[in-house]
Amino acid sequence: MPIEFGEKVRRIPVYPAAEGYGYEGPVAKMASNESPYPPLPGVIEAATKALSGINRYPDPTNAGLRKKLSDVTGVPAQRIAIGNGSCDILLAAGDALLEPGAELVYAWPSFSVYPHLAAASGARAIEVPLDDKHYHQLDKMAEEITAATRLVIVCNPNNPTSTALPLDEIEAFINKVPRHVAVILDEAYIEFNVMQDPDDSVQLLERHPNLILLRTFSKVYGLCGLRVGYALCGSESFRTAVDQVRQPFFCNAAAQAAALEALNHQDEVTRRVERNLAERTSLEDGLRALGIEPAESQANFVWFDLPETVAEADVLRGLSMTGVLVRSGEALGREGALRVTVGTEAENERFLEALAPLL
Ligand SMILES: *Cc1c(COP(=O)(O)O)cnc(C)c1O
Repeated sequence: MPIEFGEKVRRIPVYPAAEGYGYEGPVAKMASNESPYPPLPGVIEAATKALSGINRYPDPTNAGLRKKLSDVTGVPAQRIAIGNGSCDILLAAGDALLEPGAELVYAWPSFSVYPHLAAASGARAIEVPLDDKHYHQLDKMAEEITAATRLVIVCNPNNPTSTALPLDEIEAFINKVPRHVAVILDEAYIEFNVMQDPDDSVQLLERHPNLILLRTFSKVYGLCGLRVGYALCGSESFRTAVDQVRQPFFCNAAAQAAALEALNHQDEVTRRVERNLAERTSLEDGLRALGIEPAESQANFVWFDLPETVAEADVLRGLSMTGVLVRSGEALGREGALRVTVGTEAENERFLEALAPLL
């Protein structure tokens, strides 16, 4: 007899893993929006130093990292939550806020983890389609809020479409959300967004106690292999709730130390953002030369529809046969599209060269 699992195991979608990890030879990893740049020597040193103390549990309060984040952002430490990646905080938010009968609202296509929240809790997900330029339709999202709504998620810049909305439009939307409904603004790519400074959205927290800014060390800081993220919260109750529903030691010692040190290198963040912008621009130009118009990106990746004459699966297979890994649009909610992470100059050229004959 097979093991009998809970109903939610049938509901929870399986995270779509990128293909092609079996390729022999150097692979161009352009499927997961990672940083192509290796960690800074100081960051490796801080993580390595933390290893000498791993006979002890990590600090369950993440005190050092929260204090540092508080210094950098101006948000009081008691309103900063830490996670084993920001997905950890996202899933904990679902756990803390949702239950059968409750509803959550988000756009679609958006981050592939959001559907997990409803599936795991038994709440109802309302997915509001993006417009034809791949932007959130915030007015339509506001119309979907009911007495049952517990959580609204806005991903800005949006993964997988790379598009970002101006902050004043986001604040106008938050003004329409009742104060008892949590609003998560998922800002995993905020540092890459040239339309605003990461500090700008922090100002919103003072006016909106129901707002949570979800951020991560996985993208521009390049620490996704260690798993560490954080949330800047409009009120302390959100942090205590997500701490309450998780295991006590959710963020390991090496991750805490590396993240703390990474925050000392804001000049490197600026450099990476500039490099990404330059590389993304040439990637976009290369796509246009092939007759493809990508969505307007404010992130470290691009999103585009393939010509109708080619099948997405064939393009994906063709790319992976040359060792170029990108993400399938179908797996992310839109068939016939691709999401491609901006790599190094050499990787971007390799991708364009591999793509051209497949079109
Ligand atoms: C990458 C990403 C995250 C962060 O994931 P981590 O768990 O911090 O690695 C969160 N939200 C979005 C939209 C992302 O693309």
